[in-house]
Amino acid sequence: MARTPIISREVRLVSRPKGVPIAANFTLAQTELGPPGDHQVLVRNSFMSVDPYMRGRMNDSPSYVPPFALGRPLDGAAVGKVVESRAAEFKPGDSVTSTFGWREYFIASPKDLRPVSDVIQPQSVYLGALGMTGMTAWVGLNLVEVKAGDVIYISGAAGAVGSVAGQLAKFRGCQVIGSAGSAEKVRFLRDECGFDIAFDYNVGPVVEQLRLEAPDGIDVYFDNVGGSTLEAALTVLRINGRIIACGGISGYNDEKPQPGPTNLFNIITKRLTMKGLIVTDWLDRHGAFQREVGDLFLAGRLKNKETVVSGIEKAVDAFIGLFKGSNTGKMIVKLA
Ligand code: NDP
Repeated sequence: MARTPIISREVRLVSRPKGVPIAANFTLAQTELGPPGDHQVLVRNSFMSVDPYMRGRMNDSPSYVPPFALGRPLDGAAVGKVVESRAAEFKPGDSVTSTFGWREYFIASPKDLRPVSDVIQPQSVYLGALGMTGMTAWVGLNLVEVKAGDVIYISGAAGAVGSVAGQLAKFRGCQVIGSAGSAEKVRFLRDECGFDIAFDYNVGPVVEQLRLEAPDGIDVYFDNVGGSTLEAALTVLRINGRIIACGGISGYNDEKPQPGPTNLFNIITKRLTMKGLIVTDWLDRHGAFQREVGDLFLAGRLKNKETVVSGIEKAVDAFIGLFKGSNTGKMIVKLA
């Protein structure tokens, strides 16, 4: 009997956004998948990730990752279950992570899949605290050797990277300050993530709020936002301070780059160190990350906060929502 083909929906980029992405830049298309070929695996995605870095890939300009192609499905991190396998490495029911997000089903070679344990639930954790964003937080703190006694300020603190970075910094004995875009997020940081101090960056200039909350200055700035927030941090960093240059979401939708901070000279006068990070450079440290952060998660000490939307038809809204602060913790799209 002929096998019923699998109908899979996928999100394609149809035009390159100018400024903030809009729904018309994307389309939801249907595709028919035949059976997996020899040494191939059919996977149904359970959850997919939407991430700020994807905005850069929507421009037609070369970066550390290639631009998304027009008319093709987007890609990104996903976790799912093997439905059918013609490869010895996997059997139906196995859980895997991949970079085949933005679609309901896909066929891939075993080399493009990473097996993950079923013990950890929900499996979306592999897109958050135990995935790329959790690892970014961990790598960032290691990069500038964050240690007990450091006063660290984290911007974008209530998001996926920031909320994990703050919790890990607390475990290391730091005094942790975070900023986010609402009173509710400020409460989340203080009450659920254990931040010592949190403030809403909309309430007043960041530099003034930092001067008030950290009158003696900060040792480390974990930058997720860039722009005027970086400028504020440069003002309050102490001598020999360190900056983790992780992201600059305040500028991702700018059609023309904003001028840089006016106070970069602080790097000289205060002998500051600023280190850039791209998490995928650190994949050889993945085992060490999973042992340390996975143990904290399994012990119930590390919180993996999520904002979950259901259905691939909601994926574009979820992505655009990242630039409006719609998420607390990791933004997740549930697909099955
Ligand atoms: P988040 O979960 O933090 O989501 C984005 C958040 O950014 C929003 O919820 C919003 O929160 C905040 N935001 C949006 N626009 C602005 C703005 N104009 N000014 C200040 N805050 C804003 O995303 P991630 O945790 O996944 O990523 C955080 C940062 O880390 C991003 O810059 C990202 O590109 C970067 N990153 C870098 C990696 C690397 O390898 N270097 C890897 C992964 C992420 P709010 O309500 O508080 O405004």
